[in-house]
Amino acid sequence: TVDRLSDLEKLSVVGHGSSGTVYKVRHLRTNSLFALKVLRFGPNAADARRQAAREADILTRVDSPLVVRCHGVLEGGGEDRLCLVMEYMAGGSLHDVLRARRRLPEGLIAGVAGRVLEGLRYLHGMGVVHRDIKPSNLLIGSHGEVKIADFGASRVVAAAMGPSSGGGDDACAGTCAYMSPERFDSEGFGDSGGFAGDIWALGVVLLECFVGRFPLVDAGERPDWATLMCVVCFGGPPAVPDAASPEFRSFLGRCLEKDWRKRGTVGELLSHPFVAKCCSTEGLVEDTFHT
Ligand code: ADP
Ligand code: MG
Repeated sequence: TVDRLSDLEKLSVVGHGSSGTVYKVRHLRTNSLFALKVLRFGPNAADARRQAAREADILTRVDSPLVVRCHGVLEGGGEDRLCLVMEYMAGGSLHDVLRARRRLPEGLIAGVAGRVLEGLRYLHGMGVVHRDIKPSNLLIGSHGEVKIADFGASRVVAAAMGPSSGGGDDACAGTCAYMSPERFDSEGFGDSGGFAGDIWALGVVLLECFVGRFPLVDAGERPDWATLMCVVCFGGPPAVPDAASPEFRSFLGRCLEKDWRKRGTVGELLSHPFVAKCCSTEGLVEDTFHT
């Protein structure tokens, strides 16, 4: 573990998000690379402080090759911030990969699906609902490993991990773009526990990888809350292009089932033929690394 901020040298900024800045850093004594996520909250921002503590709490309890690892939580650098030392993911995020390549072939999409589902099986198994599955929160290692990151909107909903670290609800903590129908509807959401919402979001992400842009609104349209609420809650199931294979269409249909009670579960989807034949995700980094 890394226990002092002064042991780290900032090399560059690798990401900006809603909650702070992520730096690529070097550990001076060992020369190893880490990512340092600095969560800033104003001196009086009790909510942001609670959210940061929740993120740190979940990150330090999870231990899986499918989830980005946390090597320390540091309070240095001022009263109004918390720093998370994480394993550095050299391939950036799936959002970066999509920006560079626009679309992915089905084989790679199946690989991403398999990895994220395995990660969700692990998280859901310990009562953690991610609640913000989207391309920028799926990180890629130097060999194409896919890991789930960013627990800034997550909740612990089961007793498995002890007292809930939940709190006042924020229906739209991250972006609403990947939110499931039941999450727009506060009543249905309560019953679902939120697990099915992670599956919906994964379906939207995989469809986005296939069509090359955010798939639920027309090109150029802003996916704002009201537009999305109409499309997701009152529209038909998201359209899948004809070019998709029958297995992929069937898989997406199970993820993007509007009624969360009928939606595919992690267990069912992991044995679906689309991911059962799935393959390595090594190809995710070929472009970024061999140029
Ligand atoms: P936010 O809560 O602000 O969205 P994230 O944890 O999602 O913060 O990080 C924001 C961005 O920073 C990510 O989309 C990714 O591009 C980059 N990033 C975050 N963590 C890492 C990491 N461990 N390794 C490499 N890049 C990272
Ligand atoms: Mg994020």
